[in-house]
Amino acid sequence: KMEAVGRLAAGIVHDFNNLLTVMEAGLNLLEKQLNQDPTNPKVFALFEELRKRTRNGGALAQQLLAFSRKQPLNPEIVDVNARIEGLSSLLTSTLGHNVKVRHELDQALGEVFVDPNQLDVALLNLAVNARDAMDGGGTLTITTSNVRNITEDHGHKPGLFVRVTVTDTGCGMSKDVLARVFEPFFTTKGDSEGTGLGLSQVYGFVEQSGGDVRIDSEVGKGTSVHLLLPRTKAPQPTG
Ligand code: ADP
Ligand code: MG
Repeated sequence: KMEAVGRLAAGIVHDFNNLLTVMEAGLNLLEKQLNQDPTNPKVFALFEELRKRTRNGGALAQQLLAFSRKQPLNPEIVDVNARIEGLSSLLTSTLGHNVKVRHELDQALGEVFVDPNQLDVALLNLAVNARDAMDGGGTLTITTSNVRNITEDHGHKPGLFVRVTVTDTGCGMSKDVLARVFEPFFTTKGDSEGTGLGLSQVYGFVEQSGGDVRIDSEVGKGTSVHLLLPRTKAPQPTG
């Protein structure tokens, strides 16, 4: 039990490190922007973005601590596309210039009722995994779409979902690895690099939100992680 607590603490440190990487990339971007044109409104947008990230640090710690005592999420109606757009400059700088980032966002996407900070953390966790899997570079694609009834076969009620897919062109996973990825502390990375808590956070968040996570992966080809988030009830047609 003590060992588990120690590993959890190490996990929090690791995820905070990831967050700091993101913050550092953001600060570098800010410096560049300030050097080029300090009056550019992008400067203020970046400040605001970094402030939000700092607040998310607290949310991250809470989510990780939820392993020991379940913490309630703070769901609200979220525009997933807007959330992804909001993350994009930080995602790009976190992934580095060897990774191309593409968005394929369905403009008629439904709304979902989830904790927006946890959604950000989940997307960042997926991006960090993708970066690790694409050592020499590649492409990360984030796709959104509306899907129907998709989780019927998984014991979930049929319904409408927003599907967010994060696809990388990385090393992919073997069947054995794939079978264990959601286990807390399962990692194939070195001691100081992996904690095995990234996909646990993703799974915990999506499950608690009433959704589902699916992964398609092929060794040598790449990986797609699909987050299925239940849609809020569509508004009644008015006329
Ligand atoms: P960590 O990244 O700390 O190892 P995660 O829970 O995020 O922990 O992932 C668990 C394991 O799943 C990783 O160690 C890796 O083996 C595998 N994995 C996760 N995402 C990917 C990916 N996009 N491509 C290849 N392997 C992955
Ligand atoms: Mg990870």
